[in-house]
Amino acid sequence: MRIGLLTSGGDAPGMNAAIRSIVRTALYRGSEAIGVRGGYSGLFERDFVDLDIPSVGDIIHRGGTILGTSRSEYFTTDEGRDVAFRVLDGYVDALIVIGGDGSMRGALELADRGLKVITIPGTIDNDIGYQEESIGFFTAVSTVTEAIGKIRDTSSAHNRANVIEVMGRNCGDLALYAGVAGGAESIIIPEVPMDLDKVVAKVCHGRDRGKRHHIILVTEGRDAQSITETIEERTGVETRLTTLGYLQRGGDPDVRDRINATLLGKEAVERLLQGEGQGGLALGIKGGLPLAMDLREALNVEKEFRRDLYDAMEMISF
Ligand code: ADP
Repeated sequence: MRIGLLTSGGDAPGMNAAIRSIVRTALYRGSEAIGVRGGYSGLFERDFVDLDIPSVGDIIHRGGTILGTSRSEYFTTDEGRDVAFRVLDGYVDALIVIGGDGSMRGALELADRGLKVITIPGTIDNDIGYQEESIGFFTAVSTVTEAIGKIRDTSSAHNRANVIEVMGRNCGDLALYAGVAGGAESIIIPEVPMDLDKVVAKVCHGRDRGKRHHIILVTEGRDAQSITETIEERTGVETRLTTLGYLQRGGDPDVRDRINATLLGKEAVERLLQGEGQGGLALGIKGGLPLAMDLREALNVEKEFRRDLYDAMEMISF
């Protein structure tokens, strides 16, 4: 079997571990692995690379993606998808797509045209509802948690409040998990209506009992600057804003992401070899174990909010 694979959308640590697992499993099983460079855009340029054993050596521990990724405008058009399908049809027997929600929707378009497709969730946002641990998420949580710790040190030294802007425009998981792990006082995320009075009250309460640091996480897409100014004005505590930005995407994948990526990469190839993938199949991790679901169905599952985590954080952070 000739198996094509690509990484698409936002890169996430662990994508390389998935690529390695796919390629090694395919070769072990006597199949071929063809990498597409630069996500869906690479299809239009026929930017293909035969992946052999050494080509995926020494990458399990590296962030980013050796295949490159992109956001392809042309692929969002019907014409682009028709062209992409024609490029792949007959050239590969199936395609494995590693990416986020948008990449999965793109994969479904190819599946609807008749290509066998399996998707592996790779995104630091963890905004994909049918599963629990997208590849890259826990590495990013650790990265943000480490940043919170560093900012907390300097915050305590100067007796300041710090607003930290975290990625996750539509899904607050990254801010929520890192906020819990980093001991943030307040977390402003899309799932919960913003209550600045409560944030201000917490900072005042902390200030009055001599607390020297106050960490407030805010997901991107809010006006973090004006939130910062409001907190300073209303509490009298010097308040600074830090935007973490792209450093949240980088870094070596953590243990969990490497293991999940390895499991799902192998699972994807084995399932293709067993004849699955027609109509599109989504893989993921739930309860620590691999899960497979019809791709269209998977994309319709709404993301559940971890209210328990949020409530725990709210209760103990004062
Ligand atoms: P992610 O996969 O990380 O969510 P994007 O949303 O940017 O990242 O999606 C990656 C690529 O997938 C886009 O450039 C586009 O070509 C394709 N794509 C995105 N959304 C859709 C959609 N709704 N339908 C089909 N293809 C899509």
